[in-house]
Amino acid sequence: MRHLIIFAHPNSQTSFNRAILDAVVQTSQQLAVQAVVRDLYTLNFNPILSWEELQAVYQDIVPAEVKFEHQLISQADLITLIYPLWWMGFPAILKGYLDRVLSHGFAYKTEEGQSVGLLGGKKMQHFITIGNNVEIYQNMGFAQSLKDCLVDGLFNYCGITDIQHELFGDIHLIDDHARHAMLQKVSEKTRENLTALLEKKHDN
Ligand code: FAD
Repeated sequence: MRHLIIFAHPNSQTSFNRAILDAVVQTSQQLAVQAVVRDLYTLNFNPILSWEELQAVYQDIVPAEVKFEHQLISQADLITLIYPLWWMGFPAILKGYLDRVLSHGFAYKTEEGQSVGLLGGKKMQHFITIGNNVEIYQNMGFAQSLKDCLVDGLFNYCGITDIQHELFGDIHLIDDHARHAMLQKVSEKTRENLTALLEKKHDN
């Protein structure tokens, strides 16, 4: 069982996103599931998909750093994404990571003019913090749009269908007690997802 955690926050030490990361890692450790953390800022991951790289991918030429991420994704049973919402999307470093890593031939292929996702069979969870209020986002239809674009639209295309996501809102307005409850929820969700995968492995 492998758990890949992709973390995208520039403050990798004291941010609330870091607290979410700690909760996810700790839960994995408690269940003795190996967790690999890709802390994109600390890694200084280059998020720029160059024209040369984009062309080369169609000839199966992939840079070593991208190949390494491919291996980690291929081996993962659960993939966790942790990020703040920035201008209704991923922080640029995570967007760029996905641009480069979810490449043609690895994450999807084209067959008779149709795209076919290649990452089926994996489970995924997103923990997304937002400055705004979740209920307001739901009422305005933004929460659904985020689900459609950042979660389903993108990863379903790559064949991942078992995806959960949680929006944690009002992050700057709430008190420590409420933030602690959010961290509890992160641990519970992670435990549920890992336990389900462990049971499935055990049954097979
Ligand atoms: P932090 O600022 O690190 O922490 C929030 C609070 O949690 C702080 O009070 C901190 O002390 C406390 N905290 C830290 N660690 C712990 C812990 N272990 N336990 C308890 N409390 C803790 N928001 C939107 O809604 N929509 C947008 O489109 C949007 N666009 C943005 C674009 C940009 C460029 C930026 C910078 C922000 C944007 N935001 C947006 C807001 C952004 O989503 C939030 O600022 C972010 O999600 C907050 O998460 P954080 O980890 O940075 O919080």
